[in-house]
Amino acid sequence: MIQMTGVNKVYDDGFKALSDVNLELKKGEITVLIGPSGCGKSTTMKLINRLIEPTDGTIRIEGRSTQEWNPVDLRRKIGYVIQNIGLFPHMTIAKNVAVVPSLLKWEKSRIEARIDELLNLVGMSPDVFRNRYPSELSGGQQQRIGVIRAMAADPDIILMDEPFSALDPISREQLQDELIRLQQELKKTIVFVTHDMDEAIRIADTIVIMKDGSVVQKGKPEQILRHP
Ligand code: ADP
Ligand code: ADP
Repeated sequence: MIQMTGVNKVYDDGFKALSDVNLELKKGEITVLIGPSGCGKSTTMKLINRLIEPTDGTIRIEGRSTQEWNPVDLRRKIGYVIQNIGLFPHMTIAKNVAVVPSLLKWEKSRIEARIDELLNLVGMSPDVFRNRYPSELSGGQQQRIGVIRAMAADPDIILMDEPFSALDPISREQLQDELIRLQQELKKTIVFVTHDMDEAIRIADTIVIMKDGSVVQKGKPEQILRHP
């Protein structure tokens, strides 16, 4: 589903953030990228989402390189959740969730129905939350909105870059469980970045360990546990 071949990324200032990354991420799985700060996890996510371009090598989504994808199709294909949520503070929750469907020019009635469906999915009543602003939500609620916003246009792939890092341990475990449930129900391909091994082991089908811009290990959680 997502294939990286010989990928190097050198930033404009000459810093080499990824060197010769070869990685295949399976459809319908939760793959967790883990490693210390600065090892290239976010760079990998941005390359998959084509927010940045590789210096060398190819990233293929369903066999087609990201350069060949029409940007609007890629946006529909991939949902993206970032660390500090990135909700637009001046927009209501409904408007935030509707960003990508609006971009894709969905009909208004379809967008409205989708907002309600997604809010219900994460246990946040539309009547209560639709017209609130992000600052009127708890951290955990904001994170839920970040997740459903990324899912709004029903993407096949969801990239999550440390989505739960700002949460207290209890909200965090709740959201991890919700994510596992959503993935089992909806069969999405999820790429999840964390630097927390407990979180990785809890949610991953496959764990990819990165260090200094390279992949150093890849396996099922139980294999990683046996060979730390
Ligand atoms: P991680 O997500 O694993 O913490 P990143 O992929 O964000 O790591 O960053 C990898 C390395 O690339 C870091 O050393 C970071 O400082 C550097 N880096 C990230 N973005 C840029 C940029 N735009 N320009 C220069 N260096 C960058
Ligand atoms: P920028 O103005 O920095 O270019 P973007 O237009 O890429 O920002 O993204 C705007 C917001 O939409 C970001 O906060 C990001 O979290 C979110 N976003 C970006 N790409 C996607 C995507 N494929 N699906 C859902 N949300 C996205």
